[in-house]
Amino acid sequence: MASELTYRGGAASPSAGFVGSHLVDRLVARGDSVIVVDNLFTGRKENVMHHFGNPNFEMIRHDVVEPILLEVDQIYHLACPASPVHYKYNPVKTIKTNVVGTLNMLGLAKRIGARFLLTSTSEVYGDPLQHPQVETYWGNVNPIGVRSCYDEGKRTAETLTMDYHRGANLEVRIARIFNTYGPRMCIDDGRVVSNFVAQALRKEPLTVYGDGKQTRSFQYVSDLVEGLMRLMEGDHIGPFNLGNPGEFTMLELAKVVQDTIDPNARIEFRENTQDDPHKRKPDITKAKEQLGWEPKIALRDGLPLMVTDFRKRIFGDQDSAAT
Ligand code: UDP
Ligand code: UDP
Repeated sequence: MASELTYRGGAASPSAGFVGSHLVDRLVARGDSVIVVDNLFTGRKENVMHHFGNPNFEMIRHDVVEPILLEVDQIYHLACPASPVHYKYNPVKTIKTNVVGTLNMLGLAKRIGARFLLTSTSEVYGDPLQHPQVETYWGNVNPIGVRSCYDEGKRTAETLTMDYHRGANLEVRIARIFNTYGPRMCIDDGRVVSNFVAQALRKEPLTVYGDGKQTRSFQYVSDLVEGLMRLMEGDHIGPFNLGNPGEFTMLELAKVVQDTIDPNARIEFRENTQDDPHKRKPDITKAKEQLGWEPKIALRDGLPLMVTDFRKRIFGDQDSAAT
């Protein structure tokens, strides 16, 4: 988990996590100085190591739950474990990161007059009673469930962000990110795309939870990064849904993985987890109209790019060249 701060010609700081590292690549490529602040709980140094030695890049091992003093122009606040397996592992740490971590990053932004972008989540809609989800929908969230550390945590982070905006005149931006996949995802983070891809590559059965009829919408990471940067640079606060409206049941996703990796991959049904949202699909009209953004990469095109990366990391370069 990490907060990325960017200084323009100055800097910013994203993270060594999955999304953060792709964001850093884009920011560094356009010439920003970037400070990555990451406690490396779920982020991996390998994700940003290719920038080591670049004078415009700096990485600080720091937990945003503690205060920090820096000088930057923009703060992309991405710090928080985002996979249900990771965030349920230590729920108190998760909510602390969302609340105290966000408070610290907002305090920092206020002190230095930086623009602050919160990466919130589609989970603020809980198990939604409206479909697809529009930003004006207030959600259906269980405040005492096993996912609450994450979804209630992010809801509070949104509240804090708006209170700093109204109370301290801070420039803020809020993105609600829907399920995202791509290279550099943690292989064993327990999320459905990483699980299915790793399972198919390892010739293990694909584990479908429940009846597999629940839906998600999967966005390729480069589309998300483009959306985050447009949001940061634009004039609108949000919140904005950033996700790909293509909706798949988990059984349909399993079929795409079979088609991409191994048509003979078996499917094994497992008991579902508690409070699992039944449906999730973003309405992205607002992002289209106000940010001029929409995703470009369909699941069937993005998945092979992730598979190449997973193959390398699971089997090593040589084996992947041979397969
Ligand atoms: N903070 C920080 N870096 C800064 C400024 C503030 O980490 O450069 C933290 C600070 O420790 C506090 C939080 O951000 O816990 C909120 O700061 P703010 O100034 O808004 O509130 P206050 O410190 O007055 O409670
Ligand atoms: N899921 C699944 N098999 C797995 C992991 C997850 O069928 O191996 C299902 C899970 O029950 C949920 C969906 O996939 O309905 C998405 O889960 P994930 O943990 O990826 O993210 P979420 O959208 O729940 O945060």
